[in-house]
Amino acid sequence: MVGPNGIEKIQHLPVVIIGAGFGGMALAVKLQEAGIEDYHIFERAKEVGGTWRDNTYPGCACDVASNLYSYSFAPNPSWAQTHGNQSEIFGYLKGVAKDFDLYPNIRFDHELIKATWDKKAEKWSLETSQGKYTCSVLVTATGPFGEAVIPEFKGAESFKGSSFHSLHWDHEYDLKGKKVAIVGTGATAIQIVPEIQTEVEHLTVFQRTPSHVLPRVDVATSMVKRAAVRYVPFLQRGIRAAWYTAYEGLVGLPQFVDSRFLVPFEAAARYHLFKQVKDKDLREKLSPTYRFGCKRPVFSSKYFLSLQEENVDLVCSGIEEITEKGIVDSEGVEHEIDTLIYATGFRSPHQISDKLFGKTGASLAEYFGSRPRAFMGTSIAGFPNLFMMMGPFSAAGNQSAVFMLETQAGYITDAVKTMREKRLKNVDVREDVLDAFTNEVNERSQKTSWLSGGCNSYFQNAEGGNAGLWPSWSFMHRWNSRRFDVNKYVVNPVLNSVEQAD
Ligand SMILES: Cc1cc2nc3c(=O)[nH]c(=O)nc-3n(C[C@H](O)[C@H](O)[C@H](O)COP(=O)(O)OP(=O)(O)OC[C@H]3O[C@@H](n4cnc5c(N)ncnc54)[C@H](O)[C@@H]3O)c2cc1C
Repeated sequence: MVGPNGIEKIQHLPVVIIGAGFGGMALAVKLQEAGIEDYHIFERAKEVGGTWRDNTYPGCACDVASNLYSYSFAPNPSWAQTHGNQSEIFGYLKGVAKDFDLYPNIRFDHELIKATWDKKAEKWSLETSQGKYTCSVLVTATGPFGEAVIPEFKGAESFKGSSFHSLHWDHEYDLKGKKVAIVGTGATAIQIVPEIQTEVEHLTVFQRTPSHVLPRVDVATSMVKRAAVRYVPFLQRGIRAAWYTAYEGLVGLPQFVDSRFLVPFEAAARYHLFKQVKDKDLREKLSPTYRFGCKRPVFSSKYFLSLQEENVDLVCSGIEEITEKGIVDSEGVEHEIDTLIYATGFRSPHQISDKLFGKTGASLAEYFGSRPRAFMGTSIAGFPNLFMMMGPFSAAGNQSAVFMLETQAGYITDAVKTMREKRLKNVDVREDVLDAFTNEVNERSQKTSWLSGGCNSYFQNAEGGNAGLWPSWSFMHRWNSRRFDVNKYVVNPVLNSVEQAD
């Protein structure tokens, strides 16, 4: 925007949140509740929803029960299944944005390109796809899975058929009667395979490492149940509490108390495989050699059955190269295909870090190096007034991500409130506090199967350490984040009594 004197006018906004998914919206609601109305959300897309707007592949659904994988402040009595599917969760998020009147504060089509801490002005300078802004407090709520990753396969560009990543599903393209290959056998592929197997002429599944698969318990919610949840006081809260306790205990006990608690899960996954797959060789191929939980466990009652259908092949020998007509595996066999689907996951969970430049002028990605770290998963030394949602050490290892995001939304809201009450122009977490926190988290992570389970996964950083998970009970994370403790930060008070600590 250029002013009448020809000088570029840059709008200043007190609080800017990047991203309108579960995280950014939780924070918006908490800020509003605290009477902080002068926030804005910059969202690169044209609608709210994040993960649940973008992942539209067949079978896309959550793994955590919807009563818990939803906001505590916006219970939904109408989930059609125990575990909502993509369109239902997307609809839920749009409903929340409307009910809590968030839309007026969201600027769509606003992609953050670069944020630089201006040392002189002591605020953030933002470059976005819609021009420049400044802000006092910057929050990144850009999520862990926003950027697709496709490994570099020799010859990939020569493939003449259609290819796409699961995050960018091509709905115009009809898979009916096609020879299709899917690369990857993680959480996404396991949801896709049973959905497309019945449609395609032939499906080749390329597996690098098998997953521990547990049966999916997903029950349709009857009208009676929905009515009960809607009208019986506290019933929905009770169901939510029961799910919370179950996840907390079932995942927390083996990870944080004693790894012997992993044994029942490993046995259940083995039994599920044994029950559904009678062929010993195939069972062998589908048996993980690492401990349960080392990679993200997956849930499906249909995946193994689909793999055994006549039109499906499982290839475990790795991909040598991609040709014009298909994929050559590492045993030299060429698999001719029309369509190639990459279910190969996502870029770094902290992908926004290469767009943020702190006090020293270095990017957050450079600061992180091979060891991403953030105090309470949100504050990084040398990056004043920056708060990350789902930053390093705050992703849910044993719980609904929404629970963790609400925790962080509460913490950041308290930070903004404290800054205003105490008239602090900026807050920057103390280096020693961040180091002590990082050491404690790393120590606690060592015995979890995320690090010691004998696999390689995105739970680990380049040095084999904890890449981003909170390695303890989620209620401890909430307890530790209950209050923004200004003593843990280097603060800069507002000197001018007229200046607002906005
Ligand atoms: C298929 C799938 C299933 C999942 N199932 C579960 C589950 O069962 N349980 C669970 O706990 N978690 C699950 N997750 C993890 C899920 O990502 C989180 O639960 C949650 O949705 C993260 O919310 P978020 O707001 O942090 O990020 P997102 O939902 O990713 O939202 C981030 C938003 O930021 C925007 N954005 C990113 N970069 C920029 C930029 N530079 N400028 C402007 N805007 C930007 C994006 O467009 C997006 O709207 C699943 C993930 C996937 C992909």
